[in-house]
Amino acid sequence: MVTTIRGSHEVRLATYAVTIEPGVLDRIGKIVDSVARAHRYAIITDDNVGPLYAARIAKALQVPADATFTIPAGEAHKTRETWARLTDALLAAGFGRDTTIIALGGGVVGDLAGFVAATFMRGVPFVQVPTTLLAMIDASIGGKTGVDTAAGKNLVGAFHQPAAVVADTSVLATLPINELRAGMAEAIKHGVIADAAYFARIASLAGSLRSIDVASPAMLDLVARSVEIKADVVSRDERENGIRKILNFGHTIGHAVELVSEFSLLHGEAVAIGMVYEARIAERVGVADAGTAAEVQRVVRLTGLPDVCPDGLSVDAIVAATRGDKKARGGRAEYALPARIGAMAGASSSWGIAVSEDLVRDVLAG
Ligand code: NAD
Repeated sequence: MVTTIRGSHEVRLATYAVTIEPGVLDRIGKIVDSVARAHRYAIITDDNVGPLYAARIAKALQVPADATFTIPAGEAHKTRETWARLTDALLAAGFGRDTTIIALGGGVVGDLAGFVAATFMRGVPFVQVPTTLLAMIDASIGGKTGVDTAAGKNLVGAFHQPAAVVADTSVLATLPINELRAGMAEAIKHGVIADAAYFARIASLAGSLRSIDVASPAMLDLVARSVEIKADVVSRDERENGIRKILNFGHTIGHAVELVSEFSLLHGEAVAIGMVYEARIAERVGVADAGTAAEVQRVVRLTGLPDVCPDGLSVDAIVAATRGDKKARGGRAEYALPARIGAMAGASSSWGIAVSEDLVRDVLAG
């Protein structure tokens, strides 16, 4: 449940809380002190976010400037090599067991710094300070950490829950608009899987993202409700055996499109495309109400996200890529499909619905 006190929203999970508040960066010292007080603090960030916000965090935590470790921005650096460089740097700087790591950045920094925290000295506490919309409402919640390998994304990692998540929505003011839109894709997904009224609120904001005041109550509501939905799902299923699968709506086709497009799309853009096709699949297999796919497509478009596969992508290659999805069983993709806006189908089959590849091919071919 979201608790709101004087403009600060808090969502509690079993072992940590998510604080959502414009300007909260300046009082992060108090939060960290109460949940993960340590002898030393290491701030891990990237070279876009660090210059903008690391000094504020360092000041609030009263740590010296050399406690900030900066990696190059971008998915290409979410690797074992960067993990090794970071852990070596921490060791060289004399950090020990009594360290708390602060992950300041988008999902790339959160996943990587979280994995450093999961493994450094066999595990030290960490605090997520997400700075993209996607990281605030998705990547920072749920305890999945890790890196990419040549064989695929997120294939080496660990579950390691943060001690706290501190989301300052005012930092979204510096986020490029395409990244803000990509984060909206996950908010749309949360509306589809759990809350029709929230979906309608997203639809009413979607057309005016360019001019949105990121510290406004509407933006706070968006982050808080999405966090609440994700938190509710993951706390019912921390290790993804059951209901957590509903968070994969849009992601089976989305991941396949991302892969076949050779990552020329942002993750959220691929998920937007995936949601449109998967909602159509849901109607075709008869689990979704008629009109569900058209409504998903309408809001995706309104947000300025793509709703069709980029030209030139082979349908067969996309279908083949769905077989490699982590959620595939016996080489066959399973889908998380909506019953309508606000509710998912598949409760009786552990939220995974097997769909014939011929039907998927047909829907993709449009
Ligand atoms: P990202 O971390 O690459 O950030 C996007 C870009 O925005 C980067 O260039 C970054 O430097 C910049 N940026 C971040 N915050 C900024 C700000 N406030 N102002 C200006 N620039 C800013 O990408 P992302 O979309 O946040 O995260 C994607 C990653 O998250 C992927 O690696 C994905 O696998 C992961 N992810 C993890 C989970 C999970 O459960 N752990 C869930 C979803 C996604």
